[in-house]
Amino acid sequence: MLAFPHDTHTHTVYSDGVGGIADNIASAEEKGFSLLGITDHSHYLGPRSFNRYVREVKRWGEESGITVLAGVEGNIVPGGTDVPDWMVEKLDYVIASVHEWLDEPGEYVELVKAALMDENVDVIGHFGANFPHIGFPSNEELKEILELAEANGKAFEISSRYRVPDLEFVKECVRRGIKLTFASDAHTPRRVGDVGWSEKIFLKAGGRKEDLLFGDLL
Ligand SMILES: [Zn+2]
Ligand SMILES: [Zn+2]
Repeated sequence: MLAFPHDTHTHTVYSDGVGGIADNIASAEEKGFSLLGITDHSHYLGPRSFNRYVREVKRWGEESGITVLAGVEGNIVPGGTDVPDWMVEKLDYVIASVHEWLDEPGEYVELVKAALMDENVDVIGHFGANFPHIGFPSNEELKEILELAEANGKAFEISSRYRVPDLEFVKECVRRGIKLTFASDAHTPRRVGDVGWSEKIFLKAGGRKEDLLFGDLL
């Protein structure tokens, strides 16, 4: 059993996941989780399906015995994210992730910096997932990212799917008071709650409940 059983990044049939919202919630409940986030890819949702999505998350959430939050995962694009304001107004939080293919780490860093300055963004998703392919940023660049996150009150998820960010980065987050979340990035109900790696790294980095973005809700 985890000390902080929460999962803030899961997908359903509203984007490229295979389970329904109720299925993800049931899976989290079965596993003894106290908080679950439903965060489908924003670009799959139009105004009508988005309203249905939020209504469903709230309705199934209320019927469950756990805290269920409505979020989306947006794409980081030059200048910020592609999540429109009309979505943000109805959501509990927004994850922003780099999904496009890039050639070098400097481009990745510039995109994440833009997201860290975007007021619609709460959490940076799977930060560094493509560093093994495109190369790692310099320490100076990482420091800039951490400083911006700290100044703008942004959080990072610890992704068990991609096993990022690394321990040193998470330690820096804890030291600077940058909030963290646990993320399975599950695309099937069965994988909901697969955040064992996230908690392991979080605890190794000296993280405590107050270092979690949703610590108050756990
Ligand atoms: Zn993603
Ligand atoms: Zn995702």
